[in-house]
Amino acid sequence: MENDSASNGKRAIVIGTGVGGSGMAAQLAQAGFSVTVFERNRFAGGKTSSYTHEGFTMDIAIHVSPRCEMGPIAELARRVHVDMSFTRREPVLRMILGNSACSMPMKFYKPTALLKSELAFRFSPQIAPGALSFAWKVIRIKTREDLKPYEGMSAAELIKRHVNDPRFYGLMDALASLMMVLPTQEASAADFMWCLANWLKNANTGYPKGGYGSIPHSFLQVCQRHGGTVRLGEEVERIRVEHGKVVGVETKQGFYPADIVVSNAGYKKTVAMAGKEHFPSDFAAYAEGLKDSQGAVVVQYALDYQPMQELVTLYIPDGYKTDTFLASVERGHDIEPPHLYIVSPTVADPGLAPEGKHILLVGTIVPPSLENKAATEVVLDMVEETMQRLFPGLARHTLWKVRRNIDFFAALGGRGAAESIGLGQRFDQDGKNKPPARMPVQGLYAVGADAGGTGIGTELAADSAIHVFDMLMDDVRPIRR
Ligand SMILES: Cc1cc2nc3c(=O)[nH]c(=O)nc-3n(C[C@H](O)[C@H](O)[C@H](O)COP(=O)(O)OP(=O)(O)OC[C@H]3O[C@@H](n4cnc5c(N)ncnc54)[C@H](O)[C@@H]3O)c2cc1C
Repeated sequence: MENDSASNGKRAIVIGTGVGGSGMAAQLAQAGFSVTVFERNRFAGGKTSSYTHEGFTMDIAIHVSPRCEMGPIAELARRVHVDMSFTRREPVLRMILGNSACSMPMKFYKPTALLKSELAFRFSPQIAPGALSFAWKVIRIKTREDLKPYEGMSAAELIKRHVNDPRFYGLMDALASLMMVLPTQEASAADFMWCLANWLKNANTGYPKGGYGSIPHSFLQVCQRHGGTVRLGEEVERIRVEHGKVVGVETKQGFYPADIVVSNAGYKKTVAMAGKEHFPSDFAAYAEGLKDSQGAVVVQYALDYQPMQELVTLYIPDGYKTDTFLASVERGHDIEPPHLYIVSPTVADPGLAPEGKHILLVGTIVPPSLENKAATEVVLDMVEETMQRLFPGLARHTLWKVRRNIDFFAALGGRGAAESIGLGQRFDQDGKNKPPARMPVQGLYAVGADAGGTGIGTELAADSAIHVFDMLMDDVRPIRR
């Protein structure tokens, strides 16, 4: 490991070890900062943690990355000299719409793949002109400037301008749920277009070798190799601010001084930890009003057979709409059938399970508030019943399984709710309404999915780590002179 620079005499504290926090810690340590990382959990990685049980390496949640080598996770890895590789298998996706199914290659927009899917799903020919004009708009997106016309608009509005077919709409709804964990009525049309354009143009969906936990783990190793300290199981309770500048953080163990504090703990929580009296009142009110993404529930299966050939299966029940599904969960009765996002990491990386054994992870979107826990337990039952219907051998071949309800994800992140992404990439939080990663207290920055990046989930957090690090270096350079 090469050391890019000697100590610069500055102390940096990073709060949280998600992709954003761990990626930031690695870059700061490599750049010569004296780095201390705090993580409230006894394990590192936040939503991308993994655990091992009976020889299986399981992600704590359920992930795939759309861009892999071509995206920001790999760029971040290259920046800090981590040797990271991704695995994949063609065809990558099995799409099930109601009772029709079709396997699709990474480049599903090629004429033969489109013809195959049209033969399977029989979309009405009437949707073709609208769908093509929508696709043309997505293809033309190259820079964030191209998104300006879509800012402040919901993805639902944008889609309805082009296609009004309920099955096509159900597909778009499920895609918004996959990429942004929001219904299309809440999702920003601009961010929806951005995520879709990057996904389609790179067509490189895959899975990191060794599982998602290997990403934060390898970034934290870089931090430690450059002299950084990682303090697991130590929660930051307060960010201390004096005369408009951060001076350090407080945990139960004591006070840790710092020149820079970078928080991966969540935007609103960071403002609360620093004390809203230290921010301009309009900023504090703006931060207080920011809304999170929706949440998810997950079932993890350890199996003695492989029921899937593709890395991802997407199941969308007939008539599916994310907004009415979420409303039914909030209502707590007559819950509508959920869509299912199913990933088998061992399709891509067999080394994650003992020989001949496999992993199947399945999740669906739910409201993040803990008040809905009884209803989300019912959703988990529905997820398991649907899985049994889609894969009839499942119960017989299950060695063990784990159900993760919203209380688990709320406890994992420590934000009080079970949001899956971070702050929502909503139509009222896009463009100039996105929260600034450079917070209006000197030396305080937000990193991770909440601020500073663009894209889908893990890539959003990695993109943030790249941009927030560059921003921070621009800020400290004059001080160092
Ligand atoms: C079920 C599910 C499915 C998903 N599917 C995908 C997918 O397929 N593809 C994809 O790209 N993304 C997916 N995501 C989203 C993705 O995991 C997240 O958007 C991304 O990992 C968030 O990273 P982050 O750096 O913002 O922080 P997080 O992972 O949220 O980490 C924040 C860390 O900060 C710590 N922390 C908080 N407060 C404190 C404190 N006071 N002191 C110390 N530590 C603190 C937390 O414990 C946590 O470890 C999914 C998420 C979930 C839950």
